[in-house]
Amino acid sequence: MTVNYAKRAEHVGRSATREILKVLDRPEIISFAGGLPAPELFPVEAIKEACSAVLDEAGEQALQYSTTEGFLPLRKAIVKRMEAVGVPTDADHLLILTGSQQGLDLTGKIFLDKGDTVICESPTYLAAIQAFKAYEPRFAEVAMDDFGMRMDELERTLQQNPGAKFIYTIPDFQNPTGRTMVLERRKQMVALANQYDVVILEDNPYGAIRFAGEALPPVKSFDTEGRVIYLSTFSKIFAPGFRLGWICAESDFMNRYVSFKQASDLHSDVFAQRVAAKYLELNDLDAHIQKIKAVYHARREIMMHCIETCLPGHLKHSAPEGGLFIWVELPESINVQALFDRCLKNNVAFVSGDSFYPNEAKQNAFRLNYSNMSEERIKEGMKRLGEALSEYA
Ligand code: PMP
Repeated sequence: MTVNYAKRAEHVGRSATREILKVLDRPEIISFAGGLPAPELFPVEAIKEACSAVLDEAGEQALQYSTTEGFLPLRKAIVKRMEAVGVPTDADHLLILTGSQQGLDLTGKIFLDKGDTVICESPTYLAAIQAFKAYEPRFAEVAMDDFGMRMDELERTLQQNPGAKFIYTIPDFQNPTGRTMVLERRKQMVALANQYDVVILEDNPYGAIRFAGEALPPVKSFDTEGRVIYLSTFSKIFAPGFRLGWICAESDFMNRYVSFKQASDLHSDVFAQRVAAKYLELNDLDAHIQKIKAVYHARREIMMHCIETCLPGHLKHSAPEGGLFIWVELPESINVQALFDRCLKNNVAFVSGDSFYPNEAKQNAFRLNYSNMSEERIKEGMKRLGEALSEYA
C-alpha cells in the first residue's frame, strides 16, 4: 500500500524524550527525566466533592456540548488570577484550552506558514518545538544566560529576521533550564517587540510555583500595544489530567484562536471545566499552591545540596527559585549521551539537553526534575548520578 502523507507529517516524529520516558517507568530506575507534578498533592478528595456537586447541580449541562470560549464561571475565576499577577483582563479575552499545549499548536496553525521564523530561547520547551515544527517554520534561537533570554541577542536576531512571526518565551522557571527572565529584560522584550513589530507568545505554566525570591510580573503586564499572547495552565497548580489551560489575548487574536479551536475540538472538556470551577468555588486554590510550593522547595533544596556534594565541583547549574527543573552543564569533554547510557546502567536517568534545541543540538547539558520524587529517592538518585559522573573526572 502506498500512503502519501502530507509533507508536514515528515517533520513531526514522536518526541524522542517521550519515548525514553516510557522506558524509565521501570521501578528500579530513579528518573529525574520527566516533568510531572507530585501526584500525592493532587486534591483528590476535594475533586471528588466538586464532581458530585457538579453532577447534582448541573449534571445534564456538564455532559452536554458547550461553547468554544469555555465555561464562564471558570473564565471569571481566571480573570481574578490574571489580575492578581498584574494582567487586568475580562472573560471576553480569555479562552479555555485543552491544556496550554493546545495553545502552542493553535499558535503554530494561526501564525506559521512554511519557512516563517519563530524566535525562541535556546534551549526551549521540547513539545513547543514539536508543536511548531508541524507548520514547517525556521527557528531562530536566542542565547540565554542566568537572567533569561539575552536582549542584545534578541535585538540582533530581530534585525536578522525581519518579519519573524513571534517570539516564544517562557519567562518564569523556564523548561528546561529553570531560569527566570529578570524584570528589566521583560520590559526590554516588549519594547523590542514594539520596535520590530512582532508578536510575543508568553508561555507561563510555572510562574505560580515560586517558592523563593520576589514574584515578577508577566511579560504581558508590560504590553502596551496588545501584542503579547499569554498562555497558562491548571496543570502545575491543580491537576494535569484535567487538561485545562487558557489563553489571554486581545480580541483580534481571540477570534482567530476561537475559530481554530472550534475546528480542532469544538470546546475543551466541559465536565472538567465545571469541576475545576466548582473546586475553585469551594476551596482556596492559593492555599493548595502553598502546599505544592513547600514540597517542591524542600525537594529543590535537597537536589541542589546533592549537586554540590555528589557531583563534581566544576559543573555549572541553574539555581531556580521555583518551577520543576534544574539545568546542569557539563565540560566539553563529557558527551551527554554516553553519560546517559552510563547512568541507565546505574538505574538513574535525566533528559539530555539536546532534545531542547530546535536546530543544532548542544551535547553538553541535561535537565533534572525534582518535583516528582521523594527526598530519599532524590538523594539516592543523585548519589548514583555522581558515581556515573565520577568516571569522567
Ligand atoms: N509549556 C511548557 C513550558 C510546559 O513545560 C508545559 C508542560 N510541561 C506545557 C506548556 C504544557 O502544559 P499543559 O498542556 O499541561 O498545560
